[in-house]
Amino acid sequence: MSSTPTERILPGATLGVLGSGQLGRMFAMAATRLGYRVHVYAPEHDAPAADVCWRQTVGAFEDVAAVAEFAASVSVVTLEFENIAPIATETAAKYAPVRPSGAALYTVQDRLREKLFLEKIGVPCTPFAEATTAADLATAITQVGLPAVLKTAAWGYDGKGQALVHTVDEATAAHAELGGQPAVLEGFIDFQCELSMLVARNPAGEVATFGPLANDHVNHILDVSTFPDASLQPAAAEAAEIAATIARELDAIGLMCVEFFWARDGRLLVNEIAPRPHNSGHLTIDACRTSQFEQQVRAICNLPLGSFEPVVGGVAMANLLGDLWAGGVPDWVSALADPQLRLHLYGKVHARPGRKMGHLVALADDAATARAAAIAGRERLARRG
Ligand code: AMP
Repeated sequence: MSSTPTERILPGATLGVLGSGQLGRMFAMAATRLGYRVHVYAPEHDAPAADVCWRQTVGAFEDVAAVAEFAASVSVVTLEFENIAPIATETAAKYAPVRPSGAALYTVQDRLREKLFLEKIGVPCTPFAEATTAADLATAITQVGLPAVLKTAAWGYDGKGQALVHTVDEATAAHAELGGQPAVLEGFIDFQCELSMLVARNPAGEVATFGPLANDHVNHILDVSTFPDASLQPAAAEAAEIAATIARELDAIGLMCVEFFWARDGRLLVNEIAPRPHNSGHLTIDACRTSQFEQQVRAICNLPLGSFEPVVGGVAMANLLGDLWAGGVPDWVSALADPQLRLHLYGKVHARPGRKMGHLVALADDAATARAAAIAGRERLARRG
């Protein structure tokens, strides 16, 4: 191993990242600003992080020799994507600390394991039951009730691999589509809103949280995030406490995000744990003293965590999905001409519907103004002058 758990990894060192999407790109930009070099490892060519990193290795996560060579060339390995084969983190850990660890990753990679972990540490989450076999499904329906959401246990994100079911027949049909994949049935939560908390934790045990962020989804994909949201204040302290507890109990080092449903009856329920920076946290780049990506760098390098304190009164982020390209190239000039807006693009060449291509951030004196400005700015992009 090239560094011990308590050793500080100082600027000048090379940081390794498993995955090379937009989260890796923004991590690499934050790390490079601090004088680190970034080496990314991922199966894809022409990935968003490749434009801005010092070195890129293209290889499969199952290619033990290539992962070993990569990990031996860096001081620490982090990740920007949780669906990584355990063999990759196991192999990398022989050569460099992996933060967050493969064990933490293993717990949250699978919805069933994740929920059993939350239950064990006493954190409220959505009612759930395993629904892998037809017999499991029948029992799960009696335990969880209907309506419910049937989800694959692994490899799901942005609503992929899930179905809302209202009747036993619908549940049976959705279950048949999964073709025997491990699955979970979750009670449908009538929520007043969805919110998220960011939490950074370093090897010294220091913890910093940011949020709650108010998140609106469209077609299961994050659409707009806003901070601060006064209506979330009653849930803020509890959300921060839960996020910090999860980070400690998972013994996770790095930057994570905990997503919640705030039910109409007042219960705060964990929906998901992301063991990496999160789309809802992108607005920290423009709005906070320390961004979620810089916190990831600081945490994995065992440096003091920065302050998440906002530097503006209100901020909002609107995602730019590939759908925006339907009528041609968006009107970038309209966004760049507006001093309230900050444009972030991920360098992806092919715009497909639902694909995250970039985001637009609006900064203002208050959150409502920022939110309106982000949404209006995105509408102007679609008008193409
Ligand atoms: P997920 O991939 O589990 O985060 O789900 C994506 C989105 O689907 C969430 O952000 C919610 O908007 C919706 N959703 C998922 N599970 C539930 C549930 N149990 N009750 C209500 N809405 C849900």
